[in-house]
Amino acid sequence: MEKLEIITPENPVLTQEASPVEKIDLELQTLIDKMIFTMRVANGVGLAAPQVGRSLRMAVIETPPEADDEGNDIADSRNLFVIINPQIVWASRKKVDGIEGCLSIPGYLGEVSRHQAIRVKGVDRRGKPLDLKLKGWTARIFQHEIDHLDGVLFTSKLTAPENYWTEEEYASRFDEETDPEEEAVAE
Ligand SMILES: [Zn+2]
Repeated sequence: MEKLEIITPENPVLTQEASPVEKIDLELQTLIDKMIFTMRVANGVGLAAPQVGRSLRMAVIETPPEADDEGNDIADSRNLFVIINPQIVWASRKKVDGIEGCLSIPGYLGEVSRHQAIRVKGVDRRGKPLDLKLKGWTARIFQHEIDHLDGVLFTSKLTAPENYWTEEEYASRFDEETDPEEEAVAE
C-alpha cells in the first residue's frame, strides 16, 4: 500500500475549508484505504483528508474502544471510524483540557480545551448514516479532525500561548508526572 505524504502548514490546503464529499466512488475508497494505512504507519489516531493534500470533508480515526480520558487502553481491540461530511450536532457545555499533537505539526504538543462529549452525524464509507455519541478522548480526536476540515489547527486553540512545547520540552517539563510517549496524541 502506498503511504501518502502528510502535508505541513506551509501547504495552503491544510488551512483551507474543505469541500463536502459529493460522491462515494472507487477513487474515494482508494483514498480512504491509503489514509488508514498512512495513519497507522505514522502511529496516529486520526487523519483528515486535508492533511494528505485533499480538500475533502472526510477523516479516518482509530482509537481503542474503551480508552479513558488520558488515552490509556482499557481494551485491546481498536475501533476504526471513517467519517464523511461529519457535523457536530451537539456539544456538552463541559470542556476539558488535554494535550494534543498533530501529524501535520510533527514534534510539537499543546494543551487544548475540548467539549467533553459531542454528537456527530455524517456517513460512513458505504454511505450509511452515522450518528455517534462520543466522549472523552474519542470526542477530543473527532473535534481535532473536524477542525482540520475547516482548516483549523490545534495551535490556534491553545489554552494559553505558553502551553505549547516541543516533545523534548514537554518530556523534561512533565518528566516526573507522566510518560510523554504514552501521553502524546498524534492526529
Ligand atoms: Zn491534526
